[in-house]
Amino acid sequence: MGKRGIEILNLDKDELIRMLNEALSEEWLAYYQYWIGARMMEGPMRSEIEPELLLHADQELGHAVLVVNRIIQLGGTPVMNPSEWYQLARCEYEAPTDPYVEVILNQNLRGERCAIQRYQEIADFTGEKDHSTHQMAINILNEELEHEQDIEDWIADIERMRDDLRKIRME
Ligand code: FE
Ligand code: FE
Ligand code: MG
Repeated sequence: MGKRGIEILNLDKDELIRMLNEALSEEWLAYYQYWIGARMMEGPMRSEIEPELLLHADQELGHAVLVVNRIIQLGGTPVMNPSEWYQLARCEYEAPTDPYVEVILNQNLRGERCAIQRYQEIADFTGEKDHSTHQMAINILNEELEHEQDIEDWIADIERMRDDLRKIRME
């Protein structure tokens, strides 16, 4: 990073780079979880949900690009080996061994809530001290909030459908 760019930071740069490498690892795991989950998924609303999950996967990859660029700009070393992702990530990777749509959605929902926590923390850590990382964290956070909302809406719709079917059977 440019000298002046480093000088203006008013925080512990190594601590920030550590947080960003954790976030980078989480983004890659989130990408794969969405990507493989979308392909395995079965059940109601599949044709609507699958393409949106693949779009979310692309957006997680976009977050990884933003985060890695900032790590490099800060003079840090991005995580080099995928074997480190598991150690660095705080968000759990959940393999889609049960392909039912609701199970897949709940796995992704837990991932989104973990990501929201992550970017909230990075935004808090950098607020007033590193405007560039702060703005990036807020931009990513906004997209994670959309992801959470999308998933909550689908789960609500599936529950609603199940309730309606139950009522029809009782009539
Ligand atoms: Fe993300
Ligand atoms: Fe997300
Ligand atoms: Mg969406």
